[in-house]
Amino acid sequence: MIDNKNNYSLIIVGAGPAALTASIYASRYNLDHLIIGEAIGGLAFEAHKICNFPTEIEIKGAQLVEKIQKHVESLGNPIVADRVVGIDHENDGFKLTTQSNKKFFSKTILLAPGTRHRKLNLPNEKQFIGKGLSYCATCDAMFYRDKIVAVIGGSDSAHTASLYLAEIAKKVYQIYRKDRLRGETLWINQVENNNKIEVIYNTEISEIEGKDKIKSIKLTNPYKGEDKIKIDGLFIEIGTVPQKALIEELSLETNEAGYIKIGIDQKTSKKGVWAAGDITNGANNFRQIITACSEGAIASENIFKFLQEKK
Ligand code: NDP
Repeated sequence: MIDNKNNYSLIIVGAGPAALTASIYASRYNLDHLIIGEAIGGLAFEAHKICNFPTEIEIKGAQLVEKIQKHVESLGNPIVADRVVGIDHENDGFKLTTQSNKKFFSKTILLAPGTRHRKLNLPNEKQFIGKGLSYCATCDAMFYRDKIVAVIGGSDSAHTASLYLAEIAKKVYQIYRKDRLRGETLWINQVENNNKIEVIYNTEISEIEGKDKIKSIKLTNPYKGEDKIKIDGLFIEIGTVPQKALIEELSLETNEAGYIKIGIDQKTSKKGVWAAGDITNGANNFRQIITACSEGAIASENIFKFLQEKK
């Protein structure tokens, strides 16, 4: 239930694991706070299988998110399904404006909007979205029963996408630009031992071909030259990039890759603003659900201390 109040001690921007965990901790500190986020769970929601979250031997991202959300809601915390599009300084705090033009005020802000899928930036990439090209295997694999698909990437997103697709499709090509897959060893072993998956190393995609939908892709290998394979579906699983808009709006300091620089207490370069989760350079850049949760917890504890000292 959302009350009519619009003034808070803390507003958490985002609704992924970092944001939701921050809310759980904020509740334990009895901080009056609000979560504003348009996609509950963020990218974690899309994970087909998670096998490294304590207490969960194997769980779908959507199920894990649902559990965390239930925990948050059991503590009576409102989640506003909206997108923060503007943040301005106002008095001693901040005014936040959402896409639906609602205004909220807060003494402090925790930015946890997460990241978005990285694009390959091929000239006709956009044209094929929804016409054979997808950035989410969990969402779209079902359209490729007994078909031939290609997955681009060489880390955990690509591995889990290939493994899920191999349960449905006839054949999966996993195309990777280097000569050795990286990420979790157990995923790599499963990919390499799956007889429906063929990993094509040292190879990049240079062109997507087709008219109304994808028909084939052209590949470039520095040793073997050009090649072409016929496919029905293309899954681009090449990691993520930070959501930049609010970082720029607040002129926050970032590292070279554009992630928000934070201290060990999750503080950003701007007073009153903390950040947590995949959008930061924290946790040694090890972007996992558990490290996002940890950053959210640390941020809330530090925000609580900050507000206590201000009293
Ligand atoms: P990563 O950043 O780990 O890997 C991105 C992959 O895409 C790399 O292999 C990279 O190549 C490749 N790549 C990047 N840009 C390009 C490009 N322009 N062209 C071709 N290839 C490109 O991202 P992930 O999304 O895989 O993983 C992010 C984090 O999330 C990790 O910490 C991972 O462990 C976690 N994760 C966990 C999962 C699970 O356990 N269920 C599932 C998915 C992710 P290169 O190797 O050359 O840099």
